[in-house]
Amino acid sequence: WAANAGGLVVFDPDSRVRTTDPAPLQLRVETGGQRLANGARIPAQHGEIDFAPRLLSFRNEHRIRYRTQLIGLDSQPADWSANGDRRYPRIPPGDYRFEVSALDAAAASHGPLSFNFRVDAPWWQHPLALTGAALGLVLLGLAGGRVRARALAARATELEQLVAIRTEALERASNTDPLTGAWNRRYFHALIGHWLRDSEARGGLLLLLIDIDHFKQINDQYGHAVGDAVLVEVAARLQRLESGSGQLIRWGGEEFLLILSHDPDRASEVRVRAVLNAVGTKAVTVGELRIVVHCSIGFTRCRPPAEGIEQHIDLVIGRADLALYRAKNAGRHRGVEAQESESDEPRWLSVEP
Ligand code: GH3
Ligand code: MG
Ligand code: MG
Repeated sequence: WAANAGGLVVFDPDSRVRTTDPAPLQLRVETGGQRLANGARIPAQHGEIDFAPRLLSFRNEHRIRYRTQLIGLDSQPADWSANGDRRYPRIPPGDYRFEVSALDAAAASHGPLSFNFRVDAPWWQHPLALTGAALGLVLLGLAGGRVRARALAARATELEQLVAIRTEALERASNTDPLTGAWNRRYFHALIGHWLRDSEARGGLLLLLIDIDHFKQINDQYGHAVGDAVLVEVAARLQRLESGSGQLIRWGGEEFLLILSHDPDRASEVRVRAVLNAVGTKAVTVGELRIVVHCSIGFTRCRPPAEGIEQHIDLVIGRADLALYRAKNAGRHRGVEAQESESDEPRWLSVEP
């Protein structure tokens, strides 16, 4: 029995509790000053994680030994050591178990004690995010492929157009007269059958063989270059006739063949007079020069033949040539029509401006 400030205390040695429980092994886990509970989920962008095991034995504490292992990261347990504290920097995403065992001063074993936790994967490693990314890549690939395919198609079209333009330019060069831009004879022979068939509904074609009068004098008086300029201007005037609906062929040096569609409603002589005036009314200007240019025309109608276009054309051109010869002989600067007649000899009809 003993007295103290609070009264009497009784000390009974038999009532002393003798514990034989092993000293408890405890573990404190923290990250960034925050204590973590067993089974914690830690974000991917976590800071260092500290594991601090403590064996609550106060007998010869300095002889306590710890052994730890972070299962999931360490391939085997660390060696026994007096200090069981472990610090792990950034741990990759996954499930982990930290295990610690301890030996007290009497070499009695405690533990193992486990602490389970999971480090979350970053959002971009989430299966949905990965699927999205894969899908995005596929779409990007598809879009890229489509863009590439479109670019290739555009390039192909460009090349096709270029080839078409070149082909057309080549064809044009081989079909036209380089000085005046009128078609050449080669082109005439290639297309006359087509033009004839095309004009069938309107009653065929009207062929005008046009020859510049005294052209040699123009050359002699002003020179070949001026002669060339006159040829170019005369061709341009002929091409503009009837809204450019005719086909103009440079038939020879200063001779052109103008092919118009026959028109049952318009008298050929009126149309031919218009040609004479288009060439001859307004003087041709070459630099300072003003040159009056006249022409003579032999013309005739050409119906599509039942057969033998080539022969027929030769015949019709021959007829127009005879008419032109007559126009020249009759004093030039006029037209003469070779009209088909019952007899072999055509009927001749003169047209003056
Ligand atoms: P006609 O009234 O009888 O038709 O007489 P013309 O002088 O017009 O006819 P001719 O056939 O005697 O002369 C044609 C001239 O045209 C001869 C030739 O040197 C010239 N000539 C032919 N082609 C060209 C050319 O491309 N440029 C030039 N400047 N002259 C040409
Ligand atoms: Mg002439
Ligand atoms: Mg001539």
